[in-house]
Amino acid sequence: MSKVFSIYNTLTRKKETFKPIIPGHAGMYVCGPTVYGEAHLGHARPAVTFDLLFRYLQHLNYKVRYVRNITDVGHLVNDADQGEDKIEKKARLENLEPMEVVQHYTISFHKNMEQLNALPPSIEPRATGHIMEQIDVVQKILDNGFAYESGGSVYFDVEKYAQAHDYGKLSGRKLEDMLENTRELAGQSEKRSQADFALWKKADASVLMQWKSPWSQGVPGWHLECTAMSTKYLGEKFDIHGGGSDLKFPHHEAEIAQSVGAHNHESVNYWMHNNLITINGQKMGKSLGNFITLNELFSGNHELLTQAFSPMTVRFFILQAHYRSTLDFSNEALQAAEKGLDRLMKGYNLLEKLPHAEQSTVGVDNLIGEVWDAMNDDLNSPVALAHLFEAVKWINGINDGHQTITKSDCETLHQFMKTFIFDVLGLKEEAAEESSNDKLDEVIELLLSVRQEAKAAKNYALADQIRDQLKALGIVVKDKKDGFEWEIAE
Ligand code: ZN
Repeated sequence: MSKVFSIYNTLTRKKETFKPIIPGHAGMYVCGPTVYGEAHLGHARPAVTFDLLFRYLQHLNYKVRYVRNITDVGHLVNDADQGEDKIEKKARLENLEPMEVVQHYTISFHKNMEQLNALPPSIEPRATGHIMEQIDVVQKILDNGFAYESGGSVYFDVEKYAQAHDYGKLSGRKLEDMLENTRELAGQSEKRSQADFALWKKADASVLMQWKSPWSQGVPGWHLECTAMSTKYLGEKFDIHGGGSDLKFPHHEAEIAQSVGAHNHESVNYWMHNNLITINGQKMGKSLGNFITLNELFSGNHELLTQAFSPMTVRFFILQAHYRSTLDFSNEALQAAEKGLDRLMKGYNLLEKLPHAEQSTVGVDNLIGEVWDAMNDDLNSPVALAHLFEAVKWINGINDGHQTITKSDCETLHQFMKTFIFDVLGLKEEAAEESSNDKLDEVIELLLSVRQEAKAAKNYALADQIRDQLKALGIVVKDKKDGFEWEIAE
């Protein structure tokens, strides 16, 4: 482990040595979901990527504060500050309170994260819980002259900001192009420029969630919550800000402008973005019919899926690609990941049973060094995994008698693989859970065959008792002409 940890900074477009602001500590902020629908494939990639970062920083002995927000207000259907709030729209469609929508999909998101074995963040703040902090940020930006009030709303003055600062530096966009592209929309807007974005939006009576502010009854702009909450929990300057690459513009570009506008300096030392998942080469979208939720993926219940894929298969599939590369989803690719994961786990489980020899024909220390080097090189999990599969090849070779390993090397390899596979990559054995389910199935089948025998012996009291008691446990038995069917009721 000679090298130090380096990460690619999206802002400088360079790999940089990670130097935390407070030695031994690391602060990371990651943009979380807007909770108005079930988590989908697109959520799985940042979840796994930043979980890997969280785990790896902890492995490197940093004390990590990982903040990931829940957006529960302010994210409008249209990025250009127009349209309904996504959560309110869903609430209207389903005839629910917005907070019922938020609660339902937050629970569902947490369940999916747990299935993916993504550790919970240290703090998970919600936008609606930080309205005061957001109002404070708006006031600071107004005081510094980078925002203006218009009709009860407050907008960030992008053109004024751009006179002194580079608006577009993160996403590589140019303000002239942004204005060019949106000029036809100008006119009746209360914005001075179409490039301006809302910090506070005045709400009319029909808006369900709204708060008092010095400017109007209204709602915070979407980009604002991340500036307010990252500042509150990580400080005006913090180490790492992450998110999907689709958030670079306008969301993260706006966050940089808000930080400078409020604090007179940028907040983030390292911007880190995961690339997106495509499906059979296409961008994922509801209108394209290729929108797959994680629940559909785990159950196999989607017309594009040929089978169910387990959460660990999905996690492994994501880890097999570098987080900055695009990753294309297909049934074939997931099946390959399923096989690869199985091979890795079988190799690991074989380690304990290997015969030991006087000499090793394999270079364990060297291989371990190469895995950590790959991880230190901007979390290069695919290269690390390639080295790990080299170890699996050795293990199989030692088991077959083609290679040899000493007891000490074998123990070193075992300890390393245990740490790397389970603690750092965050993979876990799934077979155990499946087999306990299988056992339950067998026990139910056994009970029902006893019931069949009771019926054949005309002992209907016993047969009914078994059926009724299973029903009380939520297991529904249906008698058929040639036997029975049963299912576990939802
Ligand atoms: Zn954000």
